[in-house]
Amino acid sequence: MKAELPAVTLPGGRQVPALGLGTWHMGEGEASPEEEAASLRAGLDLGMTVIDTAEMYADGGAEEVVGEAIKARRDEVFLVSKVLPYNASRAGTIAACEASLKRLGTDHIELYLLHWRGRHPFSETVEAFETLKAQGKIGAWGVSNFDVSDMKELLEDAEPLRPSANQILYNLARRGIEFDLLRWSQVQGIPLMAYSPLDEGRLLGHPVLEEIGRIHNVGSAQVALAFLLTKAGVIAIPKSGSPERVRDNFRASEIRLTSEDLRLLDEAFPPPTRKRPLEMI
Ligand code: NAP
Repeated sequence: MKAELPAVTLPGGRQVPALGLGTWHMGEGEASPEEEAASLRAGLDLGMTVIDTAEMYADGGAEEVVGEAIKARRDEVFLVSKVLPYNASRAGTIAACEASLKRLGTDHIELYLLHWRGRHPFSETVEAFETLKAQGKIGAWGVSNFDVSDMKELLEDAEPLRPSANQILYNLARRGIEFDLLRWSQVQGIPLMAYSPLDEGRLLGHPVLEEIGRIHNVGSAQVALAFLLTKAGVIAIPKSGSPERVRDNFRASEIRLTSEDLRLLDEAFPPPTRKRPLEMI
């Protein structure tokens, strides 16, 4: 029997699984588009129904892979895509979203994010997001790569409207947000999506992760993901273009890290003791 994935509640009450699927570098030829679509479907089979993509990835090519993967099973998927900051004007955001919808082969995106902060005022982007929401083209909107100060500014500018998520770089090797943004977001009830949860693969094979993995009969990737699953309000979105590795990653939800495991992880990857600007990839 497959394990139940832990869930995160979004503002508005919808629950989504805390382990999803990334798509950066899909559509670039690293693996075949068929293999990449099969990887996403392997994740859906296991209940990893949050699929994260962006107009930026492979210049729309990743969205096309996603469209292919989900065409027969759209209703299962919680789809996330992103508008590039230079497109995020009032009219530009709407045009970008419509182009994404076309590539994705769907008429709506569950969560649409501003990829990172750019020159367009928040008020313009938020107005466009709200228009898209009223038209049923997006279900909710949010941001990405926003630090606490950016979030506070956004909340002030958008009030009473609020973002439904903030997608940020977070993994064992990049724990900076544990100093402030993580707690702040939990208190605000704004979920965080942890991108590059395997530090783009750099955490794989780390001796401490391997050692902890041996106790639980999993590999280093699953330990890195299980660490993120211990954090409330965090959705991790590992990317893999291989169905087998997606199934491996799912196993992160089947283990429970002990307090001794977490102590060893803190020793190897010390949590922050002072504020550092939010890192991004
Ligand atoms: P990641 O998920 O930390 O790592 C992906 C790398 O790890 C790939 O090379 C993948 O290779 C490999 N991998 C995955 N599972 C594995 C396993 N079980 N065993 C061995 N290797 C494994 O990095 P990421 O793709 O940068 O981040 C995840 C997602 O976050 C992205 O795909 C994207 O959707 C999102 N993201 C968002 C932003 C933003 O600015 N908002 C920035 C970066 C990423 P294979 O594919 O060959 O398995």
